[in-house]
Amino acid sequence: MPLVRYRKVVILGYRSVGKTSLAHQFVEGEFLEGYDPTVENTYSKIVTLGKDEFHLHLVDTAGQDEYSILPYSFIIGVHGYVLVYSVTSLHRLPVVLVGNKADLSPDREVQAVEGKKLAESWGATFMESSARDKQLTQGIFTKVIQEIARVENSYGQE
Ligand code: GDP
Repeated sequence: MPLVRYRKVVILGYRSVGKTSLAHQFVEGEFLEGYDPTVENTYSKIVTLGKDEFHLHLVDTAGQDEYSILPYSFIIGVHGYVLVYSVTSLHRLPVVLVGNKADLSPDREVQAVEGKKLAESWGATFMESSARDKQLTQGIFTKVIQEIARVENSYGQE
């Protein structure tokens, strides 16, 4: 019997880009027009890839309104994230990729140029930081606010 490995994946993205529809299509094999996104928000499926079997647990962030507290299930024990946008809308959420612990230079395994390249390929902003450094840390959050403003100004405020 092959070992079934557990994989928890969280689907992220702006509202109505199709997160629930993708999860539903993958697990149930169908596309539901007008599917109520608040009905269900976790999906499980056994996925076989070659000789390996995975118990894939998808966590759908749709149906969470802006007043709900981000559940721990979106953060704890997550193996991967899927970030979705819709090709029908230019409105994409700004993403800032942060290479943290940059103060630990002897332990560095990822060069800044590699992080920068990855961020560029995503159309994301790249920064290196250290939580030990007040200014670098402030820079991350200033940057994300500026990026949100930039997106809002180019596509009109929601
Ligand atoms: P979510 O808020 O990101 O989970 O988005 P939903 O899955 O609820 O989808 C929002 C709307 O877009 C629904 O009316 C879906 O039927 C529709 N939708 C989602 N994915 C697709 C897609 O790939 N193609 C089309 N044509 N419609 C989609």
